[in-house]
Amino acid sequence: MLARHADPIAAIATAPGRGAVGIVRVSSPQDLAPLIEAVCGRALKAREATYLPFRDADGAPIDQGLALYFPAPHSYTGEHVLELQAHGGAVVMQLLLARVIEAGEAIGERTEQAGARVRLAEPGEFTQRAFLNGKLDLAQAEAVADLIDASTETAARSASRALGGALSHEVGVLRDQLIQLRMLVEATLDFPEEEIDFLEKADAFGRLDRLTAQLSAVQARTRQGALLRDGLKVVLAGQPNVGKSSLLNALAGAELAIVTPIPGTTRDKVSQTIQIEGVPLHITDTAGLRDDTADEVERIGVSRSWDAIADADVVLFLHDLGRLGQADYEAEDERIRARLAAVESSRIVQVFNKADLGAAPEGEIALSLKTGDGLEALRQRLLKTAGWQAVPEGLFIARERHVQALARTAEHLALARAIAEQRDAALDLLAEELRLAHDALGEITGAFSADELLGVIFSSFCIGK
Ligand code: GDP
Ligand code: ZN
Repeated sequence: MLARHADPIAAIATAPGRGAVGIVRVSSPQDLAPLIEAVCGRALKAREATYLPFRDADGAPIDQGLALYFPAPHSYTGEHVLELQAHGGAVVMQLLLARVIEAGEAIGERTEQAGARVRLAEPGEFTQRAFLNGKLDLAQAEAVADLIDASTETAARSASRALGGALSHEVGVLRDQLIQLRMLVEATLDFPEEEIDFLEKADAFGRLDRLTAQLSAVQARTRQGALLRDGLKVVLAGQPNVGKSSLLNALAGAELAIVTPIPGTTRDKVSQTIQIEGVPLHITDTAGLRDDTADEVERIGVSRSWDAIADADVVLFLHDLGRLGQADYEAEDERIRARLAAVESSRIVQVFNKADLGAAPEGEIALSLKTGDGLEALRQRLLKTAGWQAVPEGLFIARERHVQALARTAEHLALARAIAEQRDAALDLLAEELRLAHDALGEITGAFSADELLGVIFSSFCIGK
């Protein structure tokens, strides 16, 4: 699938539906002049917008618009690229795309070159070609998708920085130092008598320690970047009527869930993505957690709620200070608490709501959604639980995949350090650990990535990118 493609591809690059402008994009390793001639009725100057009618096979205009031609290698994909900007109606776009494919077909027949035939692009295939042609490294290509999918402004700006090469640059600095170190160690393998002496003179172990320290700084920033991309899964748990829907609304700043005073009325789980300081929070309001309900619909809701809790990064367990001390209320809270024992305690945050009606236990989080008291403190507590440290400058978006690759790099460096500390250090083993560290680091930018991994990454793109 990832062999260098020879065939031209085309797709509608703009979002489906109506729009003022829509774009059909074509990329081909071969000369696009015959296709341009067929669809635009004339030749195009490189990188210059030309207003003209797009023509069907009989020469009749389909639409008027702008045509842009980017000859290889100065294009997004590194191939010859043609962009047709027409009116963004679904029918116009489909007609134009069909026309491009049909024209490719006709040229292929006339010239007997199968390579002139244009086919529909797979999701992410334009960006994949950009990667294969060295226009972007893998971390940058992923940032294209992350920029499109960004759910907050901070995430979008950070994706833009990653696309500009911020993560790739950090990885590149680490890689260069690792290469230096590997060269030193591999050189000594040929001169076994003086090896340790030589490495000490060259400060090899000092280098290794400094590299490890730098790596750990990059790891911290990458974790922040992954948090910006993936956000945090937060579940609101607690008995009916403790204020879960009210809290969701307060965090979202809008009326999202229906707030009613009748217990058990939030039947289904309601999910909403909000942001706190640019960090996306995926919040699920559970349907109450009563095990004893007779209502079938409510029972399904309860079971889904427990699934959401098992999957959550943070569970906010709400209590009602207006009902504290009432026997049936306390018994139900105790039942929920017992079932939540299966969840790691670090993931559970106890919140005592309705502080306007009673005092929270000593040292616990008090909240009143009626007055708004305690809401800001709770927001900050959520960020802290997520491990968010505000690093306003130079944030770049990242993926869990990058976090994992850096962690493996760190493991191999730690093993290398442990080997170096032994009296009769086995330098070939040391060299091997450094090589494995280098491989793990290389996965981030795609220097050493398996085709399978590349397939997974690019197939998650939208079509036309
Ligand atoms: P849920 O069933 O847990 O989702 O609870 P709701 O958010 O639907 O709230 C139940 C009732 O409690 C509603 O009438 C809210 O207006 C009320 N409520 C929520 N928070 C507070 C609070 O802090 N103080 C007071 N006095 N009432 C609240
Ligand atoms: Zn509710």
